[in-house]
Amino acid sequence: MKGISLDGLRPLRSVVLALSLGLAGVASAQEAPPKIKEALDRADKAVAAIVAIPRDKRTFDNTIRAIDDLNVRLSNDVSLFLFKQFVSTDAREREEARVADEVVSNWEIALGKREDLYQAVRAYADTKPALKGEDARLLEFLLRDYRRAGMDLPKEERDRLQQLEMEMNRLSIEFEKNIAQDETRVPLTAAELKGVPQRVLDRLTRAGDVYLVSMDGPTYIGVMENAENEATRQKVWMSYRRRAGTRNVEVLEDLIRLRARATSMLGYKTTVDHRVETRMAKDAETIRKFYEELRPIVRQKAELDFAEFQQAKREHTGNPEARFNPWDYGFYRNMLLRDKYAVDSSAVQEYFPLDRVLQGLFDITQSLYGLTYTDITAKADAMGWPTWHEDVKLFEVTDKESGRVLGHFFLDLHPRDNKYTHAAVWGLHQRKEWADGKVQTPLAAMVTNFTKPTADKPSLLTHDEVETFFHEFGHVLHHMVTEARHGRFSGTAVARDFVEAPSQMMENWVWIPETLDLFARHYRTGASLPRETLEAMERARTLGSGLEAEGQFYLGLLDYTYHTAPRGEVDTTEVAMRLYDEVTMYEAVPGTFFQASFGHLTGYEGAYYGYMWSNVYAQDMFERFREKGVLAPEAGRHYRDTVLARGGTLDEMEMLRAYLGREPSMEAFLHYLGLKK
Ligand SMILES: [Zn+2]
Repeated sequence: MKGISLDGLRPLRSVVLALSLGLAGVASAQEAPPKIKEALDRADKAVAAIVAIPRDKRTFDNTIRAIDDLNVRLSNDVSLFLFKQFVSTDAREREEARVADEVVSNWEIALGKREDLYQAVRAYADTKPALKGEDARLLEFLLRDYRRAGMDLPKEERDRLQQLEMEMNRLSIEFEKNIAQDETRVPLTAAELKGVPQRVLDRLTRAGDVYLVSMDGPTYIGVMENAENEATRQKVWMSYRRRAGTRNVEVLEDLIRLRARATSMLGYKTTVDHRVETRMAKDAETIRKFYEELRPIVRQKAELDFAEFQQAKREHTGNPEARFNPWDYGFYRNMLLRDKYAVDSSAVQEYFPLDRVLQGLFDITQSLYGLTYTDITAKADAMGWPTWHEDVKLFEVTDKESGRVLGHFFLDLHPRDNKYTHAAVWGLHQRKEWADGKVQTPLAAMVTNFTKPTADKPSLLTHDEVETFFHEFGHVLHHMVTEARHGRFSGTAVARDFVEAPSQMMENWVWIPETLDLFARHYRTGASLPRETLEAMERARTLGSGLEAEGQFYLGLLDYTYHTAPRGEVDTTEVAMRLYDEVTMYEAVPGTFFQASFGHLTGYEGAYYGYMWSNVYAQDMFERFREKGVLAPEAGRHYRDTVLARGGTLDEMEMLRAYLGREPSMEAFLHYLGLKK
């Protein structure tokens, strides 16, 4: 399973009006570079033109489509400029882009609150137009966004909402600051830290024989996976779950109360109902059922895992009564992987030279989806999309059957100083059909950090990196083959709890002998990846998957329970304890308050379930490939037409039914977790 962080997809500049409950930052338009000021001026003029149209002259084209037009134009004008903050080699350019990003965001937030533009949309909607398909959906979404932002409330209520927003904004910042500035250190002696690799210890502050163990990711994981002393692991685990202190528990509880108040003013029963209205799940009740259905089945795997891990602990400690505890998980997982599953990841790496992986990924997806990719880096300047570094390449995507150009994508694969450090895809231009019939094709950029090959040493990817490569490229394809007419629905502009599904599905191709045989070759001998190695990797893939899935249930249900509490009144520590007992195989540990440092409670509040939700549908979608053939162009074409091409033009559940030809099911996901069918 992939980690819990929402990786990858970052639609840089949504064409959607930024009707968030967020507040504008501090940067003002005066600080923006001339290019950005001009773009915003143009957008302001377009807004003025829409507003100026007399009430009885309003049409879809001059009002609703015109809003989509102005958003797409603004995105075209600014997206590459803003994107440079993540990839430019020039410090000034990065800083200018960062400031410009804030200016444009502020402009969008202000636009979402413009009464005159809202009245224009309202006036058109009041004509009760007979719209169909994507046009109807565009109007519906605009009205929905305005309602969600409180634009149809009376003035005094809107002002009160604004007050609440300011207060929530302040508390969110405080919550995040308390996490970021947490200074928890656990003093432990070298003896207590036995087993922890020297490279982890070397980074710690040390006084004589005592190390101050910090709570950053690499240190925490380094200790939890390697410290042989159980008491050490227990201390570090408990300290980790006390980060940000009880002060942050208060901040969180205030925040939850204010969120409930704001969403109730907007007419929603709970914060979750508000947050997921625009997602596939649609309401809190659906999420409750989702967990209710999944949990008992996953429990079977969690019990098997627990028994396996407990056995390992008993053998290792020589204590036949030893109980397996949550702070034991990382240590025994590491031990089982090393001793029982014996996957030597550096040996596996030798089968994945980057060039071959890229070629394999290209071959597979071109054939599956009926596409041709052409390297047109040499023409990048002429196309008006100059590359920003010599490593960057530009590709053109054409439809094999018709020869039609579908879109373009950049690949920026290797690390360098000051570059974005994770893997992600930016949608830079949306697909758009203008009123005159001209079609704008999409542009995307995939950014990763895979080691650069040299003349005498190829870049060898870990299997995990190969999986990331396929995952991210899933986002690229979603952008490229879209047939959406309005920018608002182009490519990955789908519900947030579905957007990862196409990419999560793509990960499966790196676990199948049939597809691996096409590109996994030892960089020196040219030999295929041995079947036994792959089988061992597959067994290791589901090691602990039940316990980990329950960990995700816990986080999801914590978020869910907090944000469905009546009036937002909740004792977050009491709930955290109770759920830990109920949802996981472990017993709750008094004195911990993990929620105080659970950063996803700001930003993704009420929607944490989405990480697992999208994977359930990803695995279900993959079933059809399993049946028809993972390399069968017929299966690929059907998927391209019914899912990828549709973008956000259709309700995701309807789209899934059309693709599957049946109701969605959880079966495939359970199989993926290692549960037998
Ligand atoms: Zn992703």
